[in-house]
Amino acid sequence: MLNKQHEQEIKEFVLKNVVAYCDKCGTPYKPKDLTVINDNTNFIIVQATCPKCKAQYIVQLVEPINAARKFPIVLDLPAHKLATSFLLPPVSTDLVLEFHRIFLQKRLKLKDFLTYIGVNE
Ligand SMILES: [Zn+2]
Repeated sequence: MLNKQHEQEIKEFVLKNVVAYCDKCGTPYKPKDLTVINDNTNFIIVQATCPKCKAQYIVQLVEPINAARKFPIVLDLPAHKLATSFLLPPVSTDLVLEFHRIFLQKRLKLKDFLTYIGVNE
């Protein structure tokens, strides 16, 4: 689990070096607008939500080569739910195929899938 001090350090690094402002409306981000989704020392994923226009971005940091990239994303989940899903064990191929079939038949969304596997309460 990510400790609060390390999470704050990641947020400050991202704000200083990667995403200071929203690309869409120019509103400056604050630490509360960022959620650290995953941190395994070499690869960090942070989700940013603009406090004004609600545009969302994913930021990926690769530490050994000091690379960062940012791309827009549309989520139907709050960031803390996305973070929870990163702690789950790997999904089997059979389960992926089963859900692919169900998604096509019933037009389900990601939040329905997460409810099924117990992430969404
Ligand atoms: Zn914005």
